[in-house]
Amino acid sequence: MDILVVGGGGREHAICWALSKSPKADKIYCAPGNAGIGQIAELAPIQVNEFERLTAFAEEKRVGLVVIGPDDPLAEGIVDVFEAKNIPVYGPRKNAAHIEGSKTFMKDLLKKYNIPTAAYEKFDNYEAALAYLRSRPVPIVIKADGLAAGKGVTVAFTREEAEQALADIMVDKVFGSSGSQVVIEEFMEGQEMSILAFVDGETVRPMAAAQDHKQVFDGDKGPNTGGMGTYSPLPHIDNAIIEEAVETIIKPTAKAMVSEGRSFRGVLFAGLMITPGGEPKTVEFNARFGDPETQVVLPRLKSDLLDIFLASLNGTLDQVEIEWSEEAAVCVVQASPGYPASYPKGLVISGLDTVSEAEALVFHAGTSRNESGEWLTSGGRVLGVVGRGRDIAAAREQAYKAAEKIQFEGKHQRSDIAAKALV
Ligand code: ATP
Repeated sequence: MDILVVGGGGREHAICWALSKSPKADKIYCAPGNAGIGQIAELAPIQVNEFERLTAFAEEKRVGLVVIGPDDPLAEGIVDVFEAKNIPVYGPRKNAAHIEGSKTFMKDLLKKYNIPTAAYEKFDNYEAALAYLRSRPVPIVIKADGLAAGKGVTVAFTREEAEQALADIMVDKVFGSSGSQVVIEEFMEGQEMSILAFVDGETVRPMAAAQDHKQVFDGDKGPNTGGMGTYSPLPHIDNAIIEEAVETIIKPTAKAMVSEGRSFRGVLFAGLMITPGGEPKTVEFNARFGDPETQVVLPRLKSDLLDIFLASLNGTLDQVEIEWSEEAAVCVVQASPGYPASYPKGLVISGLDTVSEAEALVFHAGTSRNESGEWLTSGGRVLGVVGRGRDIAAAREQAYKAAEKIQFEGKHQRSDIAAKALV
């Protein structure tokens, strides 16, 4: 079967890589992809928001399956567009992707169905929001309602910060219409983790748990990024807590979506806070594979990813084999100098060809190639280097050893990825 993967980052590279292992997968296309993905898939120069061109391409190539990676096209209804043309597509419809696209919708849903999350109020009026904010203690969390590339959330430790964040969203509208509503939420203390699950209606098949490092510098310092590294499994978090999160958060949410007429088919990603008392609470839901969580989760999948996608489309997700390796995986993200603020592009990357798949998997997030075949940086996050090993320590060592071989001017990576998990 030929497959089209939509997206062009490290997540899509990992998805293409996992699909390429399936004996049922023939040709894999990726739109728009990136130069690294181009090593295992044929790239189609079509952007993720060009729905008409994407469906026309899928029809022309007669692909048997389309897989959608990023959040924006899902929120805009790309799955509905493919379905209207009877093209098999894996991902949630627009009305289900809304769980990520609107934080007020997500919070109201959780409240209605008694699913654990931080207490909150929502506002569409600045004065009312400000009055409420002034009545609450700090720290407090201010969130723009819509998608804001991970930048619409401020965890404010002072009143000034909190009021500034609210004014940015509602008065200066720095996130445009994503900020026409705001959620003001109680601060939750604890340890964050992510659980991804394959979901089809009420059927929930959890994946291996993972943890991300969002801040740009070691010790969780500096501004938030798209993610500087991940690891899986989480040896320092009790399995019982992970199971509790699946039972008290993910399964009830999948069921609630069905009750609301928004049945979810795709990857549901729960961002969770494990409170100091050990109770998992919901921070957020995403309606797709996480990036860079996918880069450590899929290498641990022993079963055939294509079979899982197809089972979801056939209504047999509850029966398909989904097995996970005992091996650990650690992903170290290599970023451009200056990221997450502005950064140069076109820096020459050396050493890529010296890393074999047995040593580490290198998933490309933002690379291109020039005419002489040199690899160049072309994004904020450039590469994700994934080490595997019998435990986190071994996987981490592999990842950092391989990461050392890859160089570009001003390369930035954190040196403490997965350090918390060294037990
Ligand atoms: P991203 O796209 O980067 O995952 P997002 O824009 O969807 O993020 P959230 O996940 O809701 O936003 O929040 C971003 C980060 O802010 C969380 O990962 C968490 O670290 C912190 N955060 C959010 N809500 C809370 C809360 N109530 N208490 C403490 N920290 C929070």
